[in-house]
Amino acid sequence: MKLHTKAVHAGDRKPAHSAIPVTTPIVTASSYVYERMETLDQVFAEEVEGYCYARYDSPTAHGLEELVTALESGHGSLATSSGMNALQFALQTALTDRRRSVVASNALYGATISQLMKVFEPMAVEVRWVDICDLAAVEQALAEARPGCVVMETISNPLLRVGAMDRIAALCRQAGAALIVDNTFATPLLVRPIERGANLVVHSLTKYLAGHGDVLGGVIVSDADHYPMLRSLSKILGPNLGPFESYLSMRGIKTFPLRMERQCANAIRLATALRAHPRIERVHFPDDPAHPDAETIARLLPAGLYGAMISFAIRDAGRDEVFAFMNRLKLVVRGTSLGDVHTLMLYPAMSSHRDISPRQRQRLGIGDNLVRLSVGIEDPGDIAEDLTQALG
Ligand SMILES: *Cc1c(COP(=O)(O)O)cnc(C)c1O
Repeated sequence: MKLHTKAVHAGDRKPAHSAIPVTTPIVTASSYVYERMETLDQVFAEEVEGYCYARYDSPTAHGLEELVTALESGHGSLATSSGMNALQFALQTALTDRRRSVVASNALYGATISQLMKVFEPMAVEVRWVDICDLAAVEQALAEARPGCVVMETISNPLLRVGAMDRIAALCRQAGAALIVDNTFATPLLVRPIERGANLVVHSLTKYLAGHGDVLGGVIVSDADHYPMLRSLSKILGPNLGPFESYLSMRGIKTFPLRMERQCANAIRLATALRAHPRIERVHFPDDPAHPDAETIARLLPAGLYGAMISFAIRDAGRDEVFAFMNRLKLVVRGTSLGDVHTLMLYPAMSSHRDISPRQRQRLGIGDNLVRLSVGIEDPGDIAEDLTQALG
């Protein structure tokens, strides 16, 4: 079954009584009863499938988990209260029976960097940072650090670099390390990391998958090897996404492939328009034939689907000029999120990369004149017009 069909059908319409609800109901029960105690005993023992307690498993989250598992070609999933919670669980799952050492991309989402530095390092987990787009550097880091896992994003933030996850997965397999891929920016429409050899895939549901700016959630999709550990950790730590958020996420996902296709097409048009604008110094977008990762992009991403995140530098602008530009935006929303149906703009130096010193930001290529655009589903002409009038 193809992605678009899975998005609509997987996990849904599970028989309840004789009548089958057309969508997965919001089930808020925290515990479940059976006609006979013997059955509940068998459910607890996992001899028969069934629900017993909401922290173990519950119908609304289960529907969402089945849906995301199908989209990501995984073995099973766990829906969590946020994307950050999903990352924490992926790391704990990978490291439980491996060396407490992580090789991490140096271009991760800001809160992921903080989680590694402020939560995992103090718990005696070694973290080694690496340029994930430099395969020789990754190979050397694996040999020297002998990590339990490697953490990377399919498309990095905000400079939209694309690491060779298939090659890195092969290196990880040889080294006995798990590969965790945060696929939030790319979504399973562009690439399904488990098909490329990753072990655990993480999403912030908050972004493209739920897509409407109205729910916070995360999910970890696992291969068969890591799934039992993921579920058993979940039972004793309780990160579960609630039934209302699970419902909203599942509802959002039904249209995710359509939204994402439109957003990707809009992004190509806007990147092209921005490159031609005299006030724009540089546009970062993976459709660029001169992109530093062009070869990997051609191998991993389908033609025409480069994601819908664009970052661009405004010529001779500093913080004041960028603020003035953003204040003039009428349609584009000055929001801190991404992946919503509406177009959003963020200023990395003020938000996602605020805690990083200006010198280090400069070294990472994130100048004070760089802004990040999350392209929505609106008419692309209207978005371009708003950007043009705000650029002045
Ligand atoms: C937003 C985001 C996260 C964190 O997700 P939350 O749902 O905000 O906790 C992690 N990784 C990436 C790439 C993100 O964009």
